[in-house]
Amino acid sequence: MQAKRIAVLGGDARMHHLTELLIRDGWTVSSYGCSVGEPVAGAEYAENARDAASDAAAVVLPLPILGPDGNLNAAGDKKTDAYALLAQLPRGCVVCGGLAPADYGLCAARHGLRLVDYYEREEFAVANCVPTAEGAIETAMRELPVTLHGTRMLVIGWGRVGKALALRLHALGAEVTVSARKPGALAEIAAFGMKTAHTERLAADAGKILQNAQVIFNTVPWPVLGWEELAAMSPGALYIELASAPGGLDAQAAECTSLHIIRAPGLPGTVAPVTAAEILRDTLYNIWREQGIDRGEDV
Ligand code: NAP
Repeated sequence: MQAKRIAVLGGDARMHHLTELLIRDGWTVSSYGCSVGEPVAGAEYAENARDAASDAAAVVLPLPILGPDGNLNAAGDKKTDAYALLAQLPRGCVVCGGLAPADYGLCAARHGLRLVDYYEREEFAVANCVPTAEGAIETAMRELPVTLHGTRMLVIGWGRVGKALALRLHALGAEVTVSARKPGALAEIAAFGMKTAHTERLAADAGKILQNAQVIFNTVPWPVLGWEELAAMSPGALYIELASAPGGLDAQAAECTSLHIIRAPGLPGTVAPVTAAEILRDTLYNIWREQGIDRGEDV
C-alpha cells in the first residue's frame, strides 16, 4: 500500500526542504509552485494545484500563505489565486498554512476543509526563535562596522523572540538593555544581568538608553515608537524590525527619522531554511497526529 499523499503547494526554500524531509520519512509528496533548487528525488511535480492535491490527506501551504501580490506565495511566474485554490482541494482534507488571513479559515470551511494555522502553534513559535535570533544577530553583524561585543543595544520586548535574542547578545558581550511592560518580565531581565526599561515609557524613563543605543531590535508588533521616542534616538542608529506588521514604528514618524532601518521578516526561512523546514515538519506531525492523519501502513 502506498503512503498517504501530502500536497506541498507554493513556497520557498523552506517548502523545498520540507518536501525532502517528508519523502525521507516515507510520505508520498506531490508539489506545485515551489520551483526552488533541484527537483527533489521521489517528489511528484504537478502541472497545477488541483492535480497536486488530488487524493491528498493533507495540504501544506506556505508561510505566509499569501505573497505580496495577494496570490498564493509561490516561486515562479505562474499565479495561483489562494482563495480559488481552496475550491480545488479534496473535501475533508486538512489544510495547514502559515499566517492565514482572517477570512481564510471561513472560506476553507465553506469548502469542507479543515484549516490549521501552524504559525499560531506554540511549538512552532518557540522553535523558530533560535533561527530568528541567529538571523537578527547575523543582520546586525553585517550592518555594523564594530563588533557586537561592547556595543550598546536595546531589545524591545521580552517575549519568545526578544528573550532568545537578548540572551544571545548578552552572551556575546553586547551591552544589552531590554524593555518589557510586566513587572515579572522586568525582574527576569534584571536577574539575567541585563539593564531594563519600560516599553510604554521609553521616552520618559529611558531617554538616555534611547539616545545611547547603537542598535535597536524591535520584537513588539505594535507601534510603541512614536515621534518622541524616535526624536530621542541617536541619528544613524541601526533599527532592526523583527516584529510582524504593523511593527514597532509609528508609520508617519518613521518617514522623518534618520534611523538606519532594516526590516527583517521571515528570518528562519532565509537564514536557516533546513532548520526552518525541520521545525515545520515537527509541527505538522503534531497537527496531523491530532487530526488523525498517519502515513498509512506498509511504508
Ligand atoms: P510574543 O512571545 O508574543 O512576544 C511579543 C512581545 O511584545 C511581548 O514581550 C509582549 O509583551 C510585547 N507586546 C505586545 N504588544 C505590546 C504592546 N502594545 N505594548 C508593549 N509591548 C507589547 O511574540 P514572539 O514570538 O516573541 O514574536 C514577536 C514578533 O516577532 C511577532 O510579531 C512575530 O510574528 C515576529 N517574528 C518575526 C520573525 C522574523 O523572522 N522576523 C520570526 C518569528 C517571529 P507582554 O508579554 O507584556 O504582552
